[in-house]
Amino acid sequence: MRCLHGIDIDRALQQLLTALFHARPPSWQRLLFPWLGAGSGDGKDSLAYESQLWDLSIGVAARLLTPHLALQKVVTALDRTWHPEHFFCAQCGAFFGPEGFHEKDGKAYCRKDYFDMFAPKCGGCTRAILENYISALNTLWHPECFVCRECFTPFVNGSFFEHDGQPYCEVHYHERRGSLCSGCQKPITGRCITAMAKKFHPEHFVCAFCLKQLNKGTFKEQNDKPYCQNCFLKLFC
Ligand SMILES: [Zn+2]
Ligand SMILES: [Zn+2]
Ligand SMILES: [Zn+2]
Ligand SMILES: [Zn+2]
Ligand SMILES: [Zn+2]
Repeated sequence: MRCLHGIDIDRALQQLLTALFHARPPSWQRLLFPWLGAGSGDGKDSLAYESQLWDLSIGVAARLLTPHLALQKVVTALDRTWHPEHFFCAQCGAFFGPEGFHEKDGKAYCRKDYFDMFAPKCGGCTRAILENYISALNTLWHPECFVCRECFTPFVNGSFFEHDGQPYCEVHYHERRGSLCSGCQKPITGRCITAMAKKFHPEHFVCAFCLKQLNKGTFKEQNDKPYCQNCFLKLFC
């Protein structure tokens, strides 16, 4: 572990402790801490002396190195100072990696949780929008998600049709609204004939046999298909 001054703290601590432990009075630490000197001359007390010195050394070393440790061990963020072990994502509790953190209302969040919780959501996939978006139908969309909800075709010329707040291509818009011609399967935008519970372009409501255009009032129905009077008589009577 290195402090912010580049000192290798573990190594420095070890060197200091070794030096203190092996020093014998009279030496510099006896001058500093004279109470240690009493009875240190004879072997009987030397064990007690050494253990006393050991305890003291640790205290001294800790005091000397504390500023470095303290420098190493704070994070300044959100106008406050944090112990690194207390500075983590307010949502998932994970520590912040190289990509850092994002702030919201005085709390720090990892990138994923920040965007999950606070970024606008896509109207198509409901996931967070991080970069480009399209604004349409009172919501935001990933560009790749703003497509027909039925066939997923992009709206190349920019025109789309709305149904229940969702975008559709023209065909699937009319399919949703039940306004596709049963004859040609294309949208009916002008006149419309409703017959046999289906919808038709007038020109596509034709006899199933001779293909002559039919009038709504005069056709005959057989097996769910429309026929003109003539064909009906010939075929089924
Ligand atoms: Zn998180
Ligand atoms: Zn999306
Ligand atoms: Zn479509
Ligand atoms: Zn048609
Ligand atoms: Zn016919």
